[in-house]
Amino acid sequence: MAKQKKLSLGIDLGGTKIAAGLCRDGEILKKVIFPTHAAAGFDSVISVILGAVEKVVDGHDHKDIAGLGIGSAGQINPVTGEVIYAPNLKWQNAPLGSTLAKALKLKVQVLNDVRAATLAEHRYGNGRDLENFANIFVGTGIGSGFVLNGQLVHGSTNSAGEIGHICMDPEGPVCGCGNKGCLEAYASGTGMENYVKAELKKGRKSLIKELAESKFENVRGPLIGKAAEQGDELALAAIDRVGEYLGLALANIHTLINPEMILLGGGMMALKQYFMPTMLRTMKKHILPVADQGRELVREARFENDAVLLGGAAIFA
Ligand SMILES: [Zn+2]
Repeated sequence: MAKQKKLSLGIDLGGTKIAAGLCRDGEILKKVIFPTHAAAGFDSVISVILGAVEKVVDGHDHKDIAGLGIGSAGQINPVTGEVIYAPNLKWQNAPLGSTLAKALKLKVQVLNDVRAATLAEHRYGNGRDLENFANIFVGTGIGSGFVLNGQLVHGSTNSAGEIGHICMDPEGPVCGCGNKGCLEAYASGTGMENYVKAELKKGRKSLIKELAESKFENVRGPLIGKAAEQGDELALAAIDRVGEYLGLALANIHTLINPEMILLGGGMMALKQYFMPTMLRTMKKHILPVADQGRELVREARFENDAVLLGGAAIFA
């Protein structure tokens, strides 16, 4: 019998929740989820992580565990394991990797969460046999990871793949990063919601107003989806606009890196039936012909909620 692969730990560290898993070769053997309570500060989040690790390790000897990989929101230095800047954790220059390595006496590595998810797709998911692909996450924000020549790309300041912040229009709406007209300001869930709110403010008639009980804070993605289901014109236009901007961005990615495939995931995929046709049509229209390989160029990512955790564990698998 072949020797069984070593165990490894994966963590998905987000602003609202922390998921930890004990994994072996792409399989989650045990998983727990805890609230992050980011406002309580770095030390408190560390103790939540340590508690989560203890739960999933559950009596296994640490020497049977090859290491702990973390996918964290924000800008990460994967060499030092430092979280340089993570607005939703309210961290700056936080020594995440070294603190956990010391406490757990394990090898620890930290990656940006979307980059970790990309690693999971490359190892175990729909990017498994691909040498060149992009994995794009479209949720409340937009992030991505690239694998080129079989390697996950980090970039010189570890920001390769920040596709949410490519500029679609220098005079466009203000983005969370401070710039104007970023892809994320148009095609993320937040961008879509802001567009709907602006149109409602202008007095545009829509079922959304009724569904949201005239409260702007209720104008969220699922509600816009519900209105679209009922054929609401504004909802359909808002989702279609997402498709248009994503299509442009995908065409640019294809032209730039000539991947075999672009994988798409994230919460916005719940609305895929409405935006995909426009997205694919727009992409085809704007792609450089030589980058268009005349076949399927976009596919859904395999993993949903567990992608980041599995990607973290994959670092040591
Ligand atoms: Zn931006």
